Amino acid sequence: MSLKFKGIKKQLGNFSFDVDIELEGGMLISLLGPSGCGKTTALRIIAGFHHPDMGRIYLEGEDITDVPPRRRNIGLVFQNYALFPHLSAGENIAYGLRTRKWGRIAIRKRVDELLETVQLKGYGKRRIQDLSGGEQQRVALARALAPKPRLLLLDEPLSALDAKLRRELRREIRILQQELGITTIYVTHDQEEALAISDHVVLMREGRVEQTGRPEELYTDPVSPFSGGFIGISNLLPLSSEAEERKWMFFRPEDIGTGEGRMFRGKIREIEFYGSFYQALVKTSEGLIKVNFPTNHPHKVSDEITFSVPEENLKVLK
Ligand code: ATP
Repeated sequence: MSLKFKGIKKQLGNFSFDVDIELEGGMLISLLGPSGCGKTTALRIIAGFHHPDMGRIYLEGEDITDVPPRRRNIGLVFQNYALFPHLSAGENIAYGLRTRKWGRIAIRKRVDELLETVQLKGYGKRRIQDLSGGEQQRVALARALAPKPRLLLLDEPLSALDAKLRRELRREIRILQQELGITTIYVTHDQEEALAISDHVVLMREGRVEQTGRPEELYTDPVSPFSGGFIGISNLLPLSSEAEERKWMFFRPEDIGTGEGRMFRGKIREIEFYGSFYQALVKTSEGLIKVNFPTNHPHKVSDEITFSVPEENLKVLK
């Protein structure tokens, strides 16, 4: 199910949303960006809760701009589960099927199938309050998938969970999405999460698309200091600019070595341990630089070090 925002504009108070983008079907697409950049607004427009002031929205070539939300056949999962607390897990999953007038036997079969899909077999009768956060979010996912939606929208679905569970569940979501081949729009402000599970990332900034592409493209080829700074850990150093426009030198902490390239010299201010490497913050005459080095390397705080960045890893951004 391809999705197209054709010249979509929406004004909400002082906030202007202005997006023109076409997204291929069958993919997991992350909408990524800082708080207030318009991610939820984009989802609301897709789901039909906001009508655009201008432009049209197409799902698989069909203009759905004026189709009411309940007729769009889009599955939704929110951050705060939004499950019905007085219904059991199974009844929550069945809810959308009842309203669509599915028969009783078909509903039971579909609910059992989904409980198995989200790894909650045998949990159908459990009360919602007797489920953990992760289990509740699995029920929410099953409920969204039950009516076989054309598109799945996930709005920060894991943000209420702890870090380890987030990683487990995001992998499960990714596996499920690939098995079902369902076009999924995943809203997150967590760039690591977006890079980890997406086929395609749409990076937003102040109501507009800043950059879009495969996670690898955004990581290696940021188009702006904003992209470079938002995605991954980066070094952005101001370059003396001849023009009025400010330019930045951009490179990653892991691009640093001791071979040929642009040389830097500085003093280590602080070192963080990341398990498979260390990251030092080095004070140089050009600014603070993050430098990764291997765990078998004997650097310590206050050491003076010299290092280099190969020319091919240096980018000028403006
Ligand atoms: P977050 O990550 O914090 O959820 P977001 O990227 O999803 O942020 P949106 O919820 O889309 O951001 O909001 C974008 C901007 O629009 C925000 O500044 C918000 O305050 C503003 N906004 C949203 N709805 C309205 C409204 N009904 N009236 C006025 N301003 C609004």
